[in-house]
Amino acid sequence: MVTNAVSWDATMRAAVWTGPGRVDVRDVPYPRVPDGWLLLRVEYGGICGTDLSIVAGKHPRAAAPLVLGHEIVGIVVRTGPDGPPVGTRVVVEPLISCGRCWACRHQESHVCRELELFGIDAAGGLADHMAVPADRVVPVQPGVPVRRAAWAEPLAVAVHAVARAQVRGGESVLVFGAGPIGILVALVARKAGAARTVVVEQKASRRKIAADCGFETVPDASTRRRGSAPPTDPKGRTSSSTRQDIPTSPACCPPRPARPARSCWWPSTGIRWPSTCEPCVSASSACSAPGSTPATTSPRP
Ligand SMILES: [Zn+2]
Ligand SMILES: [Zn+2]
Repeated sequence: MVTNAVSWDATMRAAVWTGPGRVDVRDVPYPRVPDGWLLLRVEYGGICGTDLSIVAGKHPRAAAPLVLGHEIVGIVVRTGPDGPPVGTRVVVEPLISCGRCWACRHQESHVCRELELFGIDAAGGLADHMAVPADRVVPVQPGVPVRRAAWAEPLAVAVHAVARAQVRGGESVLVFGAGPIGILVALVARKAGAARTVVVEQKASRRKIAADCGFETVPDASTRRRGSAPPTDPKGRTSSSTRQDIPTSPACCPPRPARPARSCWWPSTGIRWPSTCEPCVSASSACSAPGSTPATTSPRP
Protein backbone atom coordinates (compact mmCIF):
# COMPACT_ATOMS: atom_id res chain seq x y z
CA MET A 1 0.00 0.00 0.00
CA VAL A 2 1.31 3.44 -0.89
CA THR A 3 1.11 5.85 2.00
CA ASN A 4 2.30 9.36 2.70
CA ALA A 5 2.65 8.67 6.40
CA VAL A 6 6.16 8.96 7.84
CA SER A 7 7.19 6.76 10.72
CA TRP A 8 9.49 9.06 12.67
CA ASP A 9 10.84 6.36 14.96
CA ALA A 10 12.14 4.29 12.07
CA THR A 11 14.91 4.58 9.54
CA MET A 12 14.66 4.88 5.78
CA ARG A 13 16.55 3.35 2.90
CA ALA A 14 19.13 5.43 1.04
CA ALA A 15 21.79 4.96 -1.62
CA VAL A 16 24.94 5.88 0.27
CA TRP A 17 28.32 6.44 -1.32
CA THR A 18 30.74 4.90 1.15
CA GLY A 19 34.01 5.28 -0.72
CA PRO A 20 35.58 5.04 -4.18
CA GLY A 21 33.68 2.54 -6.30
CA ARG A 22 31.20 1.61 -3.57
CA VAL A 23 27.50 2.48 -3.09
CA ASP A 24 25.45 0.72 -0.42
CA VAL A 25 21.69 0.74 0.03
CA ARG A 26 21.47 1.05 3.79
CA ASP A 27 19.18 2.27 6.54
CA VAL A 28 19.77 5.86 7.63
CA PRO A 29 17.87 8.18 10.00
CA TYR A 30 15.05 10.25 8.58
CA PRO A 31 16.21 13.78 7.70
CA ARG A 32 15.52 16.67 10.04
CA VAL A 33 12.90 19.10 8.71
CA PRO A 34 13.74 22.61 10.00
CA ASP A 35 11.20 25.44 9.96
CA GLY A 36 10.70 26.63 6.40
CA TRP A 37 11.59 23.23 4.95
CA LEU A 38 9.36 20.44 3.71
CA LEU A 39 9.63 16.69 3.44
CA LEU A 40 9.27 14.72 0.20
CA ARG A 41 8.52 11.09 -0.44
CA VAL A 42 10.97 10.52 -3.26
CA GLU A 43 9.50 8.99 -6.41
CA TYR A 44 12.38 9.15 -8.85
CA GLY A 45 15.98 10.26 -9.01
CA GLY A 46 18.13 10.83 -12.06
CA ILE A 47 21.76 9.73 -12.18
CA CYS A 48 24.07 12.58 -13.18
CA GLY A 49 27.63 12.47 -14.44
CA THR A 50 28.50 14.23 -11.21
CA ASP A 51 27.12 11.25 -9.28
CA LEU A 52 29.43 8.98 -11.25
CA SER A 53 32.43 11.18 -10.47
CA ILE A 54 31.48 11.11 -6.79
CA VAL A 55 31.21 7.32 -6.82
CA ALA A 56 34.60 7.12 -8.53
CA GLY A 57 36.05 9.24 -5.73
CA LYS A 58 36.97 12.05 -8.13
CA HIS A 59 34.67 14.83 -6.94
CA PRO A 60 36.65 17.55 -5.14
CA ARG A 61 34.04 18.29 -2.44
CA ALA A 62 32.02 15.15 -1.80
CA ALA A 63 32.95 13.30 1.38
CA ALA A 64 31.80 9.77 2.26
CA PRO A 65 29.47 8.62 3.63
CA LEU A 66 27.04 10.60 1.48
CA VAL A 67 23.45 10.04 0.35
CA LEU A 68 23.62 10.63 -3.40
CA GLY A 69 21.14 12.29 -5.74
CA HIS A 70 20.24 15.81 -6.86
CA GLU A 71 17.84 15.21 -9.79
CA ILE A 72 14.84 14.43 -7.65
CA VAL A 73 11.07 14.17 -8.08
CA GLY A 74 8.87 13.59 -5.07
CA ILE A 75 5.54 14.05 -3.37
CA VAL A 76 5.22 16.59 -0.54
CA VAL A 77 4.33 14.68 2.65
CA ARG A 78 5.02 17.42 5.18
CA THR A 79 4.90 21.13 4.45
CA GLY A 80 4.91 24.56 6.04
CA PRO A 81 3.09 27.86 5.48
CA ASP A 82 5.29 28.75 2.50
CA GLY A 83 5.33 25.32 0.87
CA PRO A 84 3.02 23.63 -1.61
CA PRO A 85 0.20 21.49 -0.21
CA VAL A 86 0.77 17.94 0.95
CA GLY A 87 0.33 15.63 -2.02
CA THR A 88 1.90 18.00 -4.57
CA ARG A 89 4.41 16.40 -6.96
CA VAL A 90 7.50 18.60 -7.16
CA VAL A 91 11.00 18.69 -8.59
CA VAL A 92 13.91 19.83 -6.44
CA GLU A 93 16.23 22.74 -7.14
CA PRO A 94 19.22 21.22 -5.34
CA LEU A 95 21.05 24.45 -4.49
CA ILE A 96 21.71 25.43 -0.88
CA SER A 97 22.44 29.16 -0.84
CA CYS A 98 23.08 31.52 2.06
CA GLY A 99 20.43 34.14 1.27
CA ARG A 100 22.72 36.93 2.52
CA CYS A 101 25.54 37.48 0.02
CA TRP A 102 25.39 39.91 -2.92
CA ALA A 103 24.45 37.15 -5.37
CA CYS A 104 21.63 35.87 -3.19
CA ARG A 105 20.27 39.40 -2.71
CA HIS A 106 20.24 39.98 -6.48
CA GLN A 107 18.38 36.88 -7.66
CA GLU A 108 21.66 35.12 -8.48
CA SER A 109 21.60 32.54 -5.69
CA HIS A 110 22.93 29.89 -8.09
CA VAL A 111 26.33 31.57 -7.74
CA CYS A 112 26.05 32.17 -3.99
CA ARG A 113 29.38 32.73 -2.28
CA GLU A 114 28.64 29.82 0.07
CA LEU A 115 26.83 27.64 -2.46
CA GLU A 116 26.38 23.99 -1.60
CA LEU A 117 24.32 21.27 -3.24
CA PHE A 118 22.18 18.43 -2.06
CA GLY A 119 23.76 15.13 -2.99
CA ILE A 120 27.26 16.62 -2.93
CA ASP A 121 27.74 18.78 0.15
CA ALA A 122 24.62 17.55 1.98
CA ALA A 123 22.47 14.44 1.91
CA GLY A 124 20.78 13.98 -1.46
CA GLY A 125 17.54 12.45 -2.61
CA LEU A 126 18.32 8.85 -3.59
CA ALA A 127 16.43 7.82 -0.49
CA ASP A 128 12.88 7.11 0.62
CA HIS A 129 12.52 10.71 1.82
CA MET A 130 14.32 14.02 1.39
CA ALA A 131 14.06 17.31 3.30
CA VAL A 132 14.52 20.55 1.32
CA PRO A 133 13.78 24.26 1.84
CA ALA A 134 10.22 25.11 0.80
CA ASP A 135 11.50 27.60 -1.79
CA ARG A 136 13.64 24.94 -3.46
CA VAL A 137 10.83 22.94 -5.05
CA VAL A 138 8.79 23.53 -8.20
CA PRO A 139 5.39 21.84 -8.71
CA VAL A 140 5.19 19.44 -11.66
CA GLN A 141 2.37 20.06 -14.11
CA PRO A 142 -0.27 17.32 -14.22
CA GLY A 143 0.35 14.83 -16.98
CA VAL A 144 4.15 15.07 -16.93
CA PRO A 145 5.53 11.55 -16.40
CA VAL A 146 7.65 11.29 -13.28
CA ARG A 147 10.69 10.05 -15.22
CA ARG A 148 10.54 13.08 -17.49
CA ALA A 149 10.09 15.38 -14.53
CA ALA A 150 13.44 14.12 -13.24
CA TRP A 151 15.03 15.89 -16.22
CA ALA A 152 13.99 19.28 -14.85
CA GLU A 153 17.26 19.98 -13.04
CA PRO A 154 19.68 19.30 -15.93
CA LEU A 155 17.22 20.87 -18.38
CA ALA A 156 17.25 24.03 -16.27
CA VAL A 157 21.03 24.23 -16.80
CA ALA A 158 20.48 24.13 -20.56
CA VAL A 159 17.68 26.70 -20.49
CA HIS A 160 19.91 29.02 -18.48
CA ALA A 161 22.82 28.59 -20.91
CA VAL A 162 20.69 29.31 -23.97
CA ALA A 163 19.11 32.31 -22.26
CA ARG A 164 22.57 33.67 -21.44
CA ALA A 165 23.59 33.21 -25.07
CA GLN A 166 20.55 35.24 -26.16
CA VAL A 167 19.80 32.83 -28.98
CA ARG A 168 17.40 34.37 -31.47
CA GLY A 169 15.27 32.83 -34.16
CA GLY A 170 17.10 31.95 -37.37
CA GLU A 171 20.58 32.08 -35.88
CA SER A 172 23.26 29.41 -35.99
CA VAL A 173 24.44 27.99 -32.67
CA LEU A 174 27.66 26.18 -31.79
CA VAL A 175 27.57 23.84 -28.79
CA PHE A 176 30.71 22.35 -27.27
CA GLY A 177 30.19 18.92 -25.82
CA ALA A 178 27.56 16.26 -26.58
CA GLY A 179 27.15 14.91 -23.09
CA PRO A 180 23.68 15.07 -21.55
CA ILE A 181 23.99 18.80 -20.86
CA GLY A 182 25.36 19.59 -24.31
CA ILE A 183 22.55 17.65 -25.99
CA LEU A 184 20.00 19.45 -23.83
CA VAL A 185 21.57 22.81 -24.72
CA ALA A 186 21.31 21.96 -28.42
CA LEU A 187 17.68 20.88 -28.03
CA VAL A 188 16.79 24.05 -26.14
CA ALA A 189 18.62 26.18 -28.73
CA ARG A 190 16.57 24.50 -31.44
CA LYS A 191 13.42 25.17 -29.42
CA ALA A 192 14.52 28.80 -29.10
CA GLY A 193 14.50 29.06 -32.88
CA ALA A 194 18.08 28.30 -33.89
CA ALA A 195 18.10 27.52 -37.60
CA ARG A 196 21.33 25.54 -37.44
CA THR A 197 22.99 23.89 -34.46
CA VAL A 198 26.48 22.40 -34.69
CA VAL A 199 27.75 20.21 -31.85
CA VAL A 200 31.49 19.76 -31.27
CA GLU A 201 32.25 16.46 -29.59
CA GLN A 202 35.34 14.28 -29.43
CA LYS A 203 33.70 10.93 -28.64
CA ALA A 204 32.13 9.17 -31.63
CA SER A 205 29.45 7.55 -29.46
CA ARG A 206 28.29 10.94 -28.24
CA ARG A 207 28.48 12.45 -31.72
CA LYS A 208 26.12 9.71 -32.85
CA ILE A 209 23.60 10.67 -30.17
CA ALA A 210 23.80 14.29 -31.30
CA ALA A 211 23.39 13.23 -34.93
CA ASP A 212 20.42 11.03 -33.99
CA CYS A 213 18.85 14.15 -32.50
CA GLY A 214 19.26 15.83 -35.88
CA PHE A 215 22.28 18.02 -35.15
CA GLU A 216 25.36 18.55 -37.26
CA THR A 217 28.43 17.23 -35.49
CA VAL A 218 32.09 18.19 -35.54
CA PRO A 219 34.80 16.08 -33.91
CA ASP A 220 37.37 17.78 -31.77
CA ALA A 221 40.22 19.01 -33.96
CA SER A 222 42.77 17.18 -31.83
CA THR A 223 40.90 13.94 -32.53
CA ARG A 224 41.00 14.63 -36.24
CA ARG A 225 44.74 15.08 -36.10
CA ARG A 226 44.91 11.52 -34.83
CA GLY A 227 43.04 10.40 -37.91
CA SER A 228 39.48 10.04 -36.67
CA ALA A 229 36.35 10.67 -38.67
CA PRO A 230 35.82 14.05 -40.31
CA PRO A 231 32.74 16.09 -39.40
CA THR A 232 29.40 14.92 -40.68
CA ASP A 233 25.96 16.38 -41.02
CA PRO A 234 22.85 14.64 -39.57
CA LYS A 235 22.60 12.50 -42.70
CA GLY A 236 26.14 11.25 -42.30
CA ARG A 237 27.57 13.31 -45.13
CA THR A 238 31.17 14.30 -44.65
CA SER A 239 32.12 17.93 -44.37
CA SER A 240 35.38 18.94 -45.97
CA SER A 241 36.82 20.88 -43.07
CA THR A 242 36.10 21.43 -39.42
CA ARG A 243 36.84 25.11 -39.74
CA GLN A 244 34.77 25.46 -42.90
CA ASP A 245 31.90 23.63 -41.22
CA ILE A 246 31.51 26.34 -38.60
CA PRO A 247 29.20 29.05 -39.90
CA THR A 248 31.18 32.27 -39.68
CA SER A 249 29.58 34.53 -42.23
CA PRO A 250 27.92 37.56 -40.68
CA ALA A 251 25.25 37.09 -43.33
CA CYS A 252 24.20 33.71 -41.95
CA CYS A 253 21.98 35.20 -39.30
CA PRO A 254 20.26 38.51 -38.59
CA PRO A 255 22.60 41.34 -37.54
CA ARG A 256 23.08 41.78 -33.81
CA PRO A 257 24.12 45.40 -33.38
CA ALA A 258 23.75 45.30 -29.61
CA ARG A 259 26.39 42.57 -29.25
CA PRO A 260 29.93 43.95 -28.98
CA ALA A 261 32.32 42.81 -31.69
CA ARG A 262 34.66 40.09 -30.49
CA SER A 263 35.76 36.67 -31.49
CA CYS A 264 35.51 33.50 -29.51
CA TRP A 265 38.12 30.77 -29.52
CA TRP A 266 38.03 27.21 -28.32
CA PRO A 267 41.61 26.04 -27.82
CA SER A 268 41.09 22.28 -28.10
CA THR A 269 39.45 22.64 -31.49
CA GLY A 270 41.36 25.52 -33.00
CA ILE A 271 38.00 26.97 -33.97
CA ARG A 272 37.51 30.70 -33.93
CA TRP A 273 34.33 32.45 -34.94
CA PRO A 274 32.82 35.92 -34.66
CA SER A 275 30.48 35.96 -31.71
CA THR A 276 28.86 39.07 -33.15
CA CYS A 277 27.20 36.45 -35.32
CA GLU A 278 27.12 33.15 -33.46
CA PRO A 279 25.94 32.56 -29.92
CA CYS A 280 28.69 30.83 -27.96
CA VAL A 281 27.23 28.19 -25.66
CA SER A 282 29.60 26.30 -23.42
CA ALA A 283 28.05 23.76 -21.11
CA SER A 284 31.29 22.81 -19.45
CA SER A 285 33.84 25.56 -19.07
CA ALA A 286 34.65 29.08 -20.17
CA CYS A 287 35.78 30.25 -23.56
CA SER A 288 39.38 31.38 -23.33
CA ALA A 289 39.34 34.36 -25.65
CA PRO A 290 40.38 37.57 -23.88
CA GLY A 291 37.39 39.82 -23.54
CA SER A 292 34.88 37.19 -24.55
CA THR A 293 31.85 36.51 -22.42
CA PRO A 294 30.47 33.15 -23.47
CA ALA A 295 27.28 31.77 -22.05
CA THR A 296 28.78 29.58 -19.40
CA THR A 297 26.31 27.88 -17.15
CA SER A 298 25.97 28.13 -13.44
CA PRO A 299 28.19 25.82 -11.38
CA ARG A 300 26.94 22.38 -12.24
CA PRO A 301 25.99 19.90 -9.63
ZN1 LIG B 1 23.63 16.90 -12.20
ZN1 LIG C 1 24.53 33.60 -0.90
